[in-house]
Amino acid sequence: MSITENIKSLLREIPPGVKMAAAAKTRTPAEVEEAIAAGLNIIGENYVQEGEEARGGVVLPAEWHFIGHLQKNKVKKAVAIFDVIETVDSLEMAREIDKRCEQAGKTMPVFIEINSGRETQKSGVMPEGAEALVRSISELTHIEIKGLMTMGPVSCGQDELRACFRETKQLLDYLGGLKIQGVAMKELSMGMTGSYRAAIEEGATLIRIGSLIFGERC
Ligand SMILES: *Cc1c(COP(=O)(O)O)cnc(C)c1O
Repeated sequence: MSITENIKSLLREIPPGVKMAAAAKTRTPAEVEEAIAAGLNIIGENYVQEGEEARGGVVLPAEWHFIGHLQKNKVKKAVAIFDVIETVDSLEMAREIDKRCEQAGKTMPVFIEINSGRETQKSGVMPEGAEALVRSISELTHIEIKGLMTMGPVSCGQDELRACFRETKQLLDYLGGLKIQGVAMKELSMGMTGSYRAAIEEGATLIRIGSLIFGERC
């Protein structure tokens, strides 16, 4: 099946209210263009450099999300290229984004990345640390928290993954209920090719799909 056919069938399948991002790592600008032309308007990139090249090579309009692990020395460039940063997991990172946004005269919508599998050596803030982090980041004036993002544990069964998605949704609702000034807990980015159905059932508003759109990575 072609990229266009894959997207059309996914768009038919996912319920209204759920958005889909194309996870575009290692894909060419032509492939990304095909995805946008087929009806996707969110592109996720894992690397700042790759995102810069892709964005430069794609003419159709889309919203570009950073979904990878952000290094401090790449924040300035990331702020210039991306419309949303989905993977904020520390105050240090948030402060750097805030500083670079202030210099650039913009405000960055961000998601807080949750380490829902509580894996060591994994990015994302532990669920227990999320409230304190959200409260601190809410005080920064050039960042707007829009919701949460999670990957879920890498190698585990569907039940465990679903439990992680469910806990992240509960955390979203809990944090939203705190009514912290300037914090919107509306977006929940979770679910990939192997897990998007479970993620949608557990409350995802944004799924990030790579292989099912573009084929397996070589
Ligand atoms: C690659 C990637 C995806 C998509 O993964 P697939 O299994 O190819 O759908 C989603 N989110 C992130 C952060 C990724 O790096």
